[in-house]
Amino acid sequence: MSVFQHMSFDDHERVVFCCDPESGLKAILAVHSTELGPAAGGCRMWPYASDDEAIKDVLRLSRGMSYKNAMAGLPMGGGKAVIIGDSRKDKSEALFQALGDLVESQGGEYITAEDVGISVSDMEIVATRTQFVSGLPHDSGSAGGDPSPKTARGIFHGIKAAVAHKLGRGDLDGLTVSVQGVGHVGYYLCKDLHEAGAKLIVADINADSVQRVVNEFGAVAVTCDEILSRKADVLAPCALGGILDENTIPTLNVSIVAGGANNQLATDEDGDTLKEMGILYAPDYVINAGGIINVAYEYLNLGDDKDVMAKLEEIGGRLTEIFQAADSQGLSTNRVADAMARQRIGRAG
Ligand code: NAD
Repeated sequence: MSVFQHMSFDDHERVVFCCDPESGLKAILAVHSTELGPAAGGCRMWPYASDDEAIKDVLRLSRGMSYKNAMAGLPMGGGKAVIIGDSRKDKSEALFQALGDLVESQGGEYITAEDVGISVSDMEIVATRTQFVSGLPHDSGSAGGDPSPKTARGIFHGIKAAVAHKLGRGDLDGLTVSVQGVGHVGYYLCKDLHEAGAKLIVADINADSVQRVVNEFGAVAVTCDEILSRKADVLAPCALGGILDENTIPTLNVSIVAGGANNQLATDEDGDTLKEMGILYAPDYVINAGGIINVAYEYLNLGDDKDVMAKLEEIGGRLTEIFQAADSQGLSTNRVADAMARQRIGRAG
């Protein structure tokens, strides 16, 4: 399929394909919008089954970053990069140097950071070749470093707002939260939820990650096939996107879906189905903005770690606004959030 005709193309300003045989880097870099500032969004490394799958992912993620940054009130546009490769065996210093060169060649229109499959140490190599990088090691007290604990804290505030709106409760004590994927974000989310008294059900394809949250937070482990249909108050998807579709949604057994994964809905219509089923959906790019807030505060020098933590609390209020608008307009929360975001990036209508 032509990139221009792709359903998620949505007038991307730039899509760059990079192939560097010397380092093995095969990557796609997408800049959706620079209307509000340089396009910021992490880099994902994933063994995509086809180029088409990688294109679809980068376009959806990049547009999502435009929406996310706009809704978080950050002076940044939206972009993303994906590396086609397996993070467990294809990483090398040369690969991340080449990624740094690719980012540098965009002249500051795109700022990179970590996403799935990418670590802080990978970004340190990228930083040897470009200044347009964030998510780097930082001094204690300043903003920066691994964004996932901040992403998780923002989701935690979002879950509290969703619980208050849907269940009329001001705390999470004794509520059950199913967490799909207990990697970087999922682990820290489990920690915050456990400390707030929530009971946890977890699943991950990585057995060690599961064991860690079972040991540390008393989580109940279930299989990856079971997690979506387990009875719980909240489902927090924290693995990959596209998991809420016509097959999985009818099997859900929760009141709220609120988690960190990007692009949880396979289609916009899936958000409508959730609404019809009486399930409150926290739009993913609003609830999972904590990481990019941390990145923005580091990169643009907007404040220290305390300022980041204060900004994360705003995520709850922003979601409540969306939930209330969705109720009063009779629309699904994803459609209300998309309309607000598009308004902010000058693409309304
Ligand atoms: P990660 O790779 O550390 O964790 C993802 C986890 O999901 C891994 O442990 C993996 O084994 C597991 N997983 C994959 N497929 C699964 C399946 N089918 N069932 C159960 N588990 C499965 O990545 P992360 O950084 O924690 O990010 C998780 C999600 O949150 C991604 O969608 C990412 O785009 C999104 N996100 C992350 C950040 C961040 O700060 N890291 C910020 C915003 C959004």
